[in-house]
Amino acid sequence: MEKTKQDSDFKHIGKKLLSWYKINARDLPFRQTKDPYKIWICEIVFQQTRIAQGLGHYNNFITRFPDVKTLAEAEENEVLLSWKGLGYYSRAINVHKAAQQIMNDYHGIFPDEYEEILKLKGVGKYTAAAVSSICFNGKIPAVDGNFYRVLSRLFADDFDISNSRAFNYFSQLAHLILPENVGDFNQAMMDLGSEICKPKNPLCGECPLNQDCLAFSLEKISEFPVKTKKVKAEDLELKYYFVHRNGQFLIQQRKDDFIWKKLFEFPPVISDDLNPFIKSVKTVNHKLTHKNLSIEIFNVEVDSEEIWNNFIYENKYIVTDVDGSHERSFPKPLENYIQSYDTAYRIL
Ligand code: SF4
Repeated sequence: MEKTKQDSDFKHIGKKLLSWYKINARDLPFRQTKDPYKIWICEIVFQQTRIAQGLGHYNNFITRFPDVKTLAEAEENEVLLSWKGLGYYSRAINVHKAAQQIMNDYHGIFPDEYEEILKLKGVGKYTAAAVSSICFNGKIPAVDGNFYRVLSRLFADDFDISNSRAFNYFSQLAHLILPENVGDFNQAMMDLGSEICKPKNPLCGECPLNQDCLAFSLEKISEFPVKTKKVKAEDLELKYYFVHRNGQFLIQQRKDDFIWKKLFEFPPVISDDLNPFIKSVKTVNHKLTHKNLSIEIFNVEVDSEEIWNNFIYENKYIVTDVDGSHERSFPKPLENYIQSYDTAYRIL
């Protein structure tokens, strides 16, 4: 960014973007509302989920929990179940807690100030800025990966987006082009970033900002944004027993929260007690954001009622069946495994 430039030099860019947005805004259901509850849920849902993939889940969630009060009063397990298919279940736990916070600390009325919204469980600067600008005319840019990409290209700015100061840096840069209507501007940046200024092969010919874009005029688009630090995914091995007998199997709710917080899982392999009953082993590889999981599942059919009962009693496992498992949320690989447990109680 050239330090000598004044805000006024770039304000026309924000206005151009708004004119483009007026005609090209995507017709999304949550664009028809300024209800902060719905905007908040939508911002949380679509943080890590593509719009096309998450829209049905968002609609179902809003139908089941149409307002803060309904969500706050729901059982946590029900909220987790309604989040099924979206992954990253800690988001569901947080929205549930935040709804209770709104009921307890704000008399059930969604806070209208950026600083107050930021106090809600699971709400970061991006979400607080988005909700306050869209619903309450707040003036803070909702800086996310789209902002980093568009702004670094627009100004051919090589500030490293993996730098811990990137958020503040690009927030300042965003202020250079920020128009009066920040709510529409934030949504326009989201649409431009996902439809036009895409990470790969941006559609510069159709871009409303191509006359102003330095990376475009220098033909250096591929050089921006600059990102040096790659977060290396950690390898993690998990071993489970799928312990079953006559169509029933054993599960427990996860207690540690480094992954899959509060989801259900099979008994972990911590001893070799059940090894004599192992029928087969299945290895599943599964990727999380910063983890590569290798999951070994030992299919254990227990034909001794005594061992079955002792194992349950000693470990306080929950006994369920396929129908019962639908009432709970499991990590995807374990859910797939349960689906392979056929009506003859065999692993297919
Ligand atoms: S001209 Fe191309 S690189 Fe520049 S902002 Fe538009 S789409 Fe992005």
